[in-house]
Amino acid sequence: MDKSRRSVVRRNIEPKNKGKPLVTPLSPTAVYHYQDADQLQEVYDNKSEGFTYSRYGNPNATILAEKISWMEGATSGVVTASGMTALSSVFLALLKAGDCLAAATQLYGQTLKVTGQILPRLGMQTTYFDASDSSTFSDAITAEIRIVITEIVSNPMLRITDFKALIKAAKEVGAIVLVDNTFTTPNGFRPLDYGADLVMHSVTKMLSGHSDLNLGYIGGNDPEILKKIDDLISTLGLNASPHNCWLAERGLQTFDIRIKKAQENASELAKVLLNHPKVTVVHYPELPLHPDHKLAQELLKNGFGTMVSFVLKGDRDNLNLFLRAAENIPYGPTLGDVATMIIIPSISSHRELSKEQRLELGIEDNLIRVSVGIESFDLIKEDFIDALAAS
Ligand SMILES: *Cc1c(COP(=O)(O)O)cnc(C)c1O
Repeated sequence: MDKSRRSVVRRNIEPKNKGKPLVTPLSPTAVYHYQDADQLQEVYDNKSEGFTYSRYGNPNATILAEKISWMEGATSGVVTASGMTALSSVFLALLKAGDCLAAATQLYGQTLKVTGQILPRLGMQTTYFDASDSSTFSDAITAEIRIVITEIVSNPMLRITDFKALIKAAKEVGAIVLVDNTFTTPNGFRPLDYGADLVMHSVTKMLSGHSDLNLGYIGGNDPEILKKIDDLISTLGLNASPHNCWLAERGLQTFDIRIKKAQENASELAKVLLNHPKVTVVHYPELPLHPDHKLAQELLKNGFGTMVSFVLKGDRDNLNLFLRAAENIPYGPTLGDVATMIIIPSISSHRELSKEQRLELGIEDNLIRVSVGIESFDLIKEDFIDALAAS
């Protein structure tokens, strides 16, 4: 190259290389350039494939979305900046002022804020049903309902949605069924196989698995619905960062073995807690005493999940003693991490409810929700036994 035309600002150096990288290359570029106007026009007109500007899509997001779609049995899917953007994009793309939706009473806290506060402010109304009690479906899921939303396993009580009955009720009125499958994961249940229209994830949690990013996913089998959602995501800029997608793809590679180990640990922990004198009640769908045990056996064919909730005997003082002693089990408002973590729903995720409202859901003050990790079980057991003794 003519020395006088060199500039470190210009990106005109590509090393010669016949090898293909083993690992997905990270593509942080915000923009793609083409040889001439015709080439770009073809891409805009969908006559040839290509990326143009990263708000409309980037290779790392496409690869990640495709892999999660495989796991969920979806023909198309898209990743977004977070779980909440995935969820919001469905409502904003498919509903308009005057439309109605039906939601389960036990959903992720911020989802309840969207359905109960934000959408009503925009002119949409929400009715609620108890997802594990099908007798409440017909009152909530009426002819006006456009979207029905539920989670298969609820937080933090781990109640199970009567999904076959819910699908039936929704299909009778022609509503779109959206499942937030974050808690359950495609290992536990694949909603699209049972007739759901859309499945979403907070990829932040178990799918990526290392608490180092925020991402969401939304997928389904109807290309027209997905196109509307994809359009809204790129227009409003709810798109995912390539860095996060790259990291999430790496996390996803170990999903199968992580969930297997975490689930084994959760099952063992539930049994240890069940027989402990400092514990008044244990919530885990595998336990025969769980109110939805039969439904869980019917729907969760690959095990009962990685979350366990239990009530510690005593009052706030006992709780503080437990937490101080459980110094190796971090208190953190997330789930699905490689490490075991706990939260106290009454003072975090459900603090905005009154005590009466919490008790109605079964959330006692000393309820502890455990997201069980992949450590050796001996270690987890020892930490819990020690903390319980100290409480
Ligand atoms: C965390 C979570 C969300 C929100 O996801 P973000 O990635 O934090 O935006 C939605 N639903 C469930 C069940 C979650 O656990």
